[in-house]
Amino acid sequence: MQERRRFEGPSDLHLHSTRSDGTEPPQMVVQAAHDHGLRTIALTDHDTTDGWAEAAEASASLGMTFIPGMELSAAHGWRNVHVLAYLIDPDDAELRAETERIREDRVGRAERIVANISRDYDLQWEDVLAQTSAGATVGRPHIADALVARGFVRDRGEAFAGILHPREGYFVPHDAPDPWTAVRLVVAAGGVPIIAHPATSGRDRMMPLGVMAELVELGLAGFEIDHRENTEAGKRTLRELARRHDLIVTGSSDYHGRGKPNLPGENTTSDAMVARILERGTGSAPVYP
Ligand code: AMP
Ligand code: FE
Ligand code: FE
Ligand code: ZN
Repeated sequence: MQERRRFEGPSDLHLHSTRSDGTEPPQMVVQAAHDHGLRTIALTDHDTTDGWAEAAEASASLGMTFIPGMELSAAHGWRNVHVLAYLIDPDDAELRAETERIREDRVGRAERIVANISRDYDLQWEDVLAQTSAGATVGRPHIADALVARGFVRDRGEAFAGILHPREGYFVPHDAPDPWTAVRLVVAAGGVPIIAHPATSGRDRMMPLGVMAELVELGLAGFEIDHRENTEAGKRTLRELARRHDLIVTGSSDYHGRGKPNLPGENTTSDAMVARILERGTGSAPVYP
């Protein structure tokens, strides 16, 4: 390995931009990461690789290492499952087709949620469009921003705790591949699949350990354990599972700009684990400064 090909920590491998539901464009996300002392980052927008070029360029100009990533939406029954996909080939035909399908379905789904909300609140689809960057992966956060703009809630957190919560009856799920398909697609695209925030509560609750074991057989590389939404009990269980199967464990912020309180670098991934991700990914290459 050449000297200049070494990355340096601290590393935060889970950040979102306006290409999905973050509030800052990729360049600003990278600047925020830099301001928080990070040296290696991954951009992991939901179901899109659109922000890579801009983030890679900004990283290089700030002397940081950029690792290409994506957060692929999946579903296990009623559960949301998010699969972080590092170093995938952005042109892999199957993965591209699947992410395009997900992004398209997310639009119709968001329109249905807005139609439901509009029965009780003065909210139009145009309000959501006004909060969404062109081409971005649409999600409930954009509806939340529209509700904030209309003055119905103070921030995204309040929207998710109230109007956007499934118990309120406006919620519609979006279509997504099952976790077995998601892991297979990422592996086939040369990527390193790691389950994002695998041990949260609510609709993101942890999948049964038997399913996790099956995913490991298919090439699941590891778990994002240090994440503010994982429960302590869940972290312990997954750390033990990771130890037994010699899996990668990561820690990250899941930064969404002003959309969440999460700050770059609030959790980080060790150099040893970043090195394992870099060794394993073959679909695209990190960009060194
Ligand atoms: P969706 O995939 O459209 O159902 O929206 C889920 C997204 O909303 C996740 O990617 C989170 O980033 C975001 N999200 C979930 N809960 C909250 C919250 N309480 N505050 C802000 N953003 C949230
Ligand atoms: Fe998000
Ligand atoms: Fe997520
Ligand atoms: Zn995320």
